Formats: sequence, C-alpha cells, structure tokens
Amino acid sequence: MEDRKLVALTFDDGPSNITEAVLDILKEEGIVGTFFLIGQNITPDKKPILERQLAQGCEICNHSFTHSVMSELSAETIRDEIMKTSDLIRDMVGVETMFFRPPFIALSDTMYANINMPFICGHDSRDWDPSTSAQDRVNNVLAGVRDGSLVLMHDMKDNVKTLEALPTIIKELRAKGFSFVTASQIFAEKGIDPNVPHKIWSCVFD
Ligand SMILES: [Zn+2]
Repeated sequence: MEDRKLVALTFDDGPSNITEAVLDILKEEGIVGTFFLIGQNITPDKKPILERQLAQGCEICNHSFTHSVMSELSAETIRDEIMKTSDLIRDMVGVETMFFRPPFIALSDTMYANINMPFICGHDSRDWDPSTSAQDRVNNVLAGVRDGSLVLMHDMKDNVKTLEALPTIIKELRAKGFSFVTASQIFAEKGIDPNVPHKIWSCVFD
C-alpha cells in the first residue's frame, strides 16, 4: 500500500457548534480528519467532542490559544499561546499535539524559532470566507488537490456551508482514487519527516 494516493482533510477553529456534525459526516463516510483547535474554545463542556475526535481515529492539533496574528507577538507570548493549548489538550484527553497551524497563516522568524512543531498551511478551500458557496468550496478543494495534499477547511462556528460541501468533497476525492488519513499519517505513510526548520507544509511533496 506504499503508493496509495493520500489526502488529509483538516479543520480549523473548533471545537464549535458544527464540530459534531463534521464528525457525523466523517463517521458516516468511514474516514478520519485532523482538527486544529483554538485553546480558548476548549471549554470543559467540549471534552466529549475531543474524546469523540480521538475515538473516531482523528488527530488533534494546535491552532494557538487566542487566534491572534502571531507574527506580531513576542517570543514569550508565542510560547505561552502554544503551551497553554497543548497543556489543555493533554490535560483533557491525554494526547500530545504534533502539528501547528498559524492563525491567518501569519508567519515570523520569532514564531519559527519558538514553536517546536511542524507548521501546516494546506490546500485552501476558502471556506473561511462566508461568501464562498458550498459548490465553490467543493471546486476549490478539487482544483489542485494531489497525492500528499493537506486540505484546509474550517469547523468554525456556524460554518454550515462546509457541512453542506463536505459529503461531496469526500465523494469526489474518493472517485479520484484518494484515501483519507490524518496529518501524522500522511507524512508517515509517504516517508517524509515533517520536522524541517522554517517550513510550512501544504503538501508533503512540496
Ligand atoms: Zn483559524
């Protein structure tokens, strides 16, 4: 199975009021995804959502604590943003976050120097823009997705057009021969070490 065509669907900004619906779709389709969580959204009542993500084989990653433009933050504040979120996830469900996605994909040398995780961007569905229709979200994912791609979507609050687009995205990717894995799995199965300094990944082959 070395040459499976792989894609990693990733979701930012949760947990939110649509995260369970995303998980319902992934479960229905029998596939996994990767969730980049915002620390301040991980309130105690969200614990069952994190537990469910792990129970379904999904991966939980770090999307900072306050979702600020981190390129404007000091080294100390950057480290605090990352640590608070990783600590919260570890305390709640006992896993280590292995990847980081910068809010707004804002980058700085200070961030690279102080965040000890691979940075992930991803193939953009533009689903963070409310004016992007469900059909355009589908089209954006399908345009340019390739073996090794990490697809960037959002399980942010009220993002129902992504719920609408997701079953079609999965169906169309499957029709193109893709299998669905987590961020950790896509690097591992392709034999790529994600720990490259000053690098942000959108595809494991870039
Ligand atoms: Zn975000």
